[in-house]
Amino acid sequence: MTRLIFLGPPGAGKGTQAKALSGMCNVPHISTGDILRAAVKAETELGQKAEGYMSAGELVPDDLILDLIRERLSENDTATGWLLDGFPRNVEQAEFLNKLLAEINQTCDVVINLEVPDDELVTRMLSRGRADDKEAVIRNRLEVYREQTEPLIDLYKGSGQLRSVDGNQEMQRVTEALQQFVQCEVNAKGVEA
Ligand code: ADP
Repeated sequence: MTRLIFLGPPGAGKGTQAKALSGMCNVPHISTGDILRAAVKAETELGQKAEGYMSAGELVPDDLILDLIRERLSENDTATGWLLDGFPRNVEQAEFLNKLLAEINQTCDVVINLEVPDDELVTRMLSRGRADDKEAVIRNRLEVYREQTEPLIDLYKGSGQLRSVDGNQEMQRVTEALQQFVQCEVNAKGVEA
């Protein structure tokens, strides 16, 4: 069973690392950013409501996100675990998740905090070229992160779930560093990952 939350500022590489671990551990990678971008592309009601917030680098309102997470975590493919990337992103979302997990009798094993200095984050995002990777929007996303998401670090430190990993090194190195904190199903069966 592998249940992980990926924390960390925008551009830290959460998506890349979550994808790698999701493949290794064979559990779904649940990225609220990916889900929202797909909704925008498909022009669904959710996408239409979310688009303005995303392009301004603001958080999408909680009422658009919470039901989506409840539904996603009730799908069959989460039976062996999940990797959450981009959720929770504020204290209200973290409290919602705590309650939801208690309700469905699950616990999160580990919260990974990927640490990367601001200069490097900006460089990475500018080279990525996503629609919301323009300098002013990047600056706002970093500010929103500091104000709303960073407080979760202390919250999960307090619960003993937080593990910090240096995200400012080669991708493969980061993956290796993560593996020491992540117990895949293969490990649980006694096979080396
Ligand atoms: P990054 O972490 O690089 O900013 P994401 O793909 O995680 O990228 O998120 C992109 C955008 O999607 C955010 O700036 C925000 O507008 C929206 N978003 C993603 N996840 C959430 C969430 N849990 N709550 C509110 N908004 C979200």
